[in-house]
Amino acid sequence: MAAQETDDHKYVYDFSEGNKDLKDLLGGKGANLAEMTNLGLPVPPGFTITTEACQAYLATGREPDGLAGQIEAHLAALEREMGKRLGDPGDPLLVSVRSGAKFSMPGMMETVLNVGLNDQSVVGLAAQAGQNDRFAWDSYRRLIQMFGKTVCEVPGEEFEHALDEVKSARGTHNDLDLDADDLRGLVDAYKKIFAKHTGREFPQQPREQLDLAIRAVFESWNAERAVLYRRQERIPADLGTAVNVVTMVFGNLGPDSGTGVAFTRDPGSGAQGIYGDYLANAQGEDVVAGIRNTVPLQELERLDKSSYDELLSIMARLEEHYRDLCDIEFTIERGKLWMLQTRVGKRTAAAAFVIAGQLVDEGLIDEDEALHRVNGAQLAQLMFPRFQLDHEFEAVATGIGASPGAASGAVVFTSARAVELAAEGKSVILVRRETNPDDLNGMIAAQGILTSRGGKTSHAAVVARGMGKTCVSGADEIDVNVPAKRFTVSGRTVTEGDVVSIDGTTGKVYLGEVPVMPSEVVQYFEGSLDAEHVDNPLVRAVHRIMTHADGKRRLTVRTNADTSADAARARRFGAEGIGLCRTEHMFLGDRRELVERLILARAEGERDEALAALLPLQRADFEEIFREMDGLPVTVRLIDPPLHEFLPPLEQLAVNVAVAQERGEDVAKEEALLAAVRRMHEENPMLGLRGVRLGLVIPGLFAMQVRAIAEAAVAVVRAGGVARPEIMVPLVGAVQELETVRAEAEKIIAEVVGDSGVEVLIGTMIEVPRAALTAGQIAEAAEFFSFGTNDLTQMGWGFSRDDVEGAFFWRYLELGIFGISPFESIDRDGVGRLVRIAAEEGRAARPGLKLGVCGEHGGDPDSVHFFHEVGLDYVSCSPFRVPVARLEAGRAAVETDGSDSR
Ligand code: PEP
Ligand code: MG
Repeated sequence: MAAQETDDHKYVYDFSEGNKDLKDLLGGKGANLAEMTNLGLPVPPGFTITTEACQAYLATGREPDGLAGQIEAHLAALEREMGKRLGDPGDPLLVSVRSGAKFSMPGMMETVLNVGLNDQSVVGLAAQAGQNDRFAWDSYRRLIQMFGKTVCEVPGEEFEHALDEVKSARGTHNDLDLDADDLRGLVDAYKKIFAKHTGREFPQQPREQLDLAIRAVFESWNAERAVLYRRQERIPADLGTAVNVVTMVFGNLGPDSGTGVAFTRDPGSGAQGIYGDYLANAQGEDVVAGIRNTVPLQELERLDKSSYDELLSIMARLEEHYRDLCDIEFTIERGKLWMLQTRVGKRTAAAAFVIAGQLVDEGLIDEDEALHRVNGAQLAQLMFPRFQLDHEFEAVATGIGASPGAASGAVVFTSARAVELAAEGKSVILVRRETNPDDLNGMIAAQGILTSRGGKTSHAAVVARGMGKTCVSGADEIDVNVPAKRFTVSGRTVTEGDVVSIDGTTGKVYLGEVPVMPSEVVQYFEGSLDAEHVDNPLVRAVHRIMTHADGKRRLTVRTNADTSADAARARRFGAEGIGLCRTEHMFLGDRRELVERLILARAEGERDEALAALLPLQRADFEEIFREMDGLPVTVRLIDPPLHEFLPPLEQLAVNVAVAQERGEDVAKEEALLAAVRRMHEENPMLGLRGVRLGLVIPGLFAMQVRAIAEAAVAVVRAGGVARPEIMVPLVGAVQELETVRAEAEKIIAEVVGDSGVEVLIGTMIEVPRAALTAGQIAEAAEFFSFGTNDLTQMGWGFSRDDVEGAFFWRYLELGIFGISPFESIDRDGVGRLVRIAAEEGRAARPGLKLGVCGEHGGDPDSVHFFHEVGLDYVSCSPFRVPVARLEAGRAAVETDGSDSR
């Protein structure tokens, strides 16, 4: 969006010309100041320079043509309105110059206050403020300090240091104890600091001050911290910031002045009632800097009842207007209230649900809108166990909540030590400055990961999220010393073995073991908390919104479950069937040996024996699951192990044989096994003999499974239940593979099912790109497709799913090659396109073809929206993610504009 550089292109908007929907152009702050102005609320007059002006400046290194003239005209209008002139020695107009991007980037960009003060106008300001010299000189020194630091890059500490010196000469720690003379002296000192660093005097021309401040705000868009923040929050780099030029109002004119921040409801819990802080006789930055202690907003009622009442009525008005929780900043100047900012306020996940429910009750929004206002990521957060915090526990450091959860354990500093202690059954927290691929084993062994460097896309963060492991990254107050096996934080030393607790949602780090409590939301889903009767606003809100989502969604939600216990849990969480039962997981443990025999068998008899032994075991597995899912569809996938998972490791076996030979033992059997394993060894097992290929190569294997499924279904039906089996063939790439399996399966099913009434569907996974591209042919032989997006991503990108996330994805994320791992959220453009093609061509060939997805993406919020758009019938995901998928499927259905879920 290149800004036009013509004289008549509009770059400056008076507050009365904008509105809240112009955030792209005016930034969030400017758009909302305009909205409040138009609502007739007391906003100090001013104007906004657009993001387009900033974009043009950043592209060319100079202000676009026409901008200077438009600023001049708006400034003149402002001067007329206020009856004052910028820099007038007798009665100066002062302005603040504030950044304000489309998305809030708190504290990342610059602000300059009190622009318009100089050696003359400081005297006029004092007179205007009732001969308040102290106030005027304090304002002037603040201008030089802020201007010096943000516009001219003068080191801020030098100003701080000069201020401290004056305070200590006065024997005080409090700014308010300094008098006008002290501050006049400080202005001189500040000017010297300014001149020393810039080689020039502090500019006395108010318009020059203004222009330089505007330019500094433009440039702060590309300040290092702003760039980092954007990358972290995925804010596009080309938006630019708007600049707001606002008439100054002063909260530091005496006890009848002050400043504060407020929320229209509690952003932590969502509880109704105002919530905020107030600081008398202070300017906004004093509150932010925490220089003095604020008082609760309710105190204002006692201090200045009329401002308090006006504020409350404005807050009620704003809530009603924005139909949401608002946060505001305000200033009271000698008993007159001014609104400096408002926006729809950030809130915790719990507050998001509670507030959405309240707003429906209050008639401000409808249930569709309430559903739109929450999301699956928030719901997932509410399902993690939480720390039970009381006064005993205080965070010693705060990093980035990189992967949610609550974890406690003994501190270790190396991957090897993590593995050792975990093997002894201990919980450990792996602490590193940053992790790298060598730490992978330690990360797997640890309960949680804590790093002092790196953000949400660091190696630690990405890998931990992939594993579902708690991680706090970038806790930079922590000084990690790996060789000495210790870290220090706020003067305390933590050595190997000491226990710490980390909260991967808030990023907080605690010393000692903080007790953990289960999530109330999970208790509700599990059925142990009854939403209708419990007095818990969060549970009630979740229940209400989930019920609405279920009523709206078009997608069915199934679960991936291989055991009856998982199936039962998922059913309680709302699963409407099993979309993937991975049968290879039933072949582990003591059955492994049977599978090994089966795979390695050279003689038919040997193989048949193994199959005959497996049949009843499999039948029992399936019976249990069909019974648990009584009446619901259950997709059973025929075995799909990469072979190496079932064979003894080649190296280990070779060593054992060599050692035994050395000892002169009889190794004939082991040698035969070794030869067989060598024969079957694959360089790329993920692309080797697995899935349907294995079924076609090992006679009787799929037949045994099909028979077990059909017999189990018949047994359940004969016992009065309802079994709805769906047999799924994995890794199909060509219709001929499926036809071959199907022909054999149909014969067995017909023979077993007889007149029992059991109906068995046969379908396939679409997980090889060729299958997606020949879906029209494959649909001729399939009653359903289930997209295996894990393998489709692996083979679509050519990324080994076992290796790449730990190996190099962190770097890809850092470089912005992708915004999120394509194994986590579907790559709409590439892998998503394969899904789309297969869905369309499959349905064209066989109308009514049932379509679902059972890769990890089935439980990912953004991907659920995509699958809704593509028109799948169901998503299938792990039990814990079933509620998230239900919610997001509901959201997708009410968001008819097709926008994504963020
Ligand atoms: C898939 O590939 O997406 C899938 C569900 O199968 P698996 O993960 O078992 O390979
Ligand atoms: Mg697969």
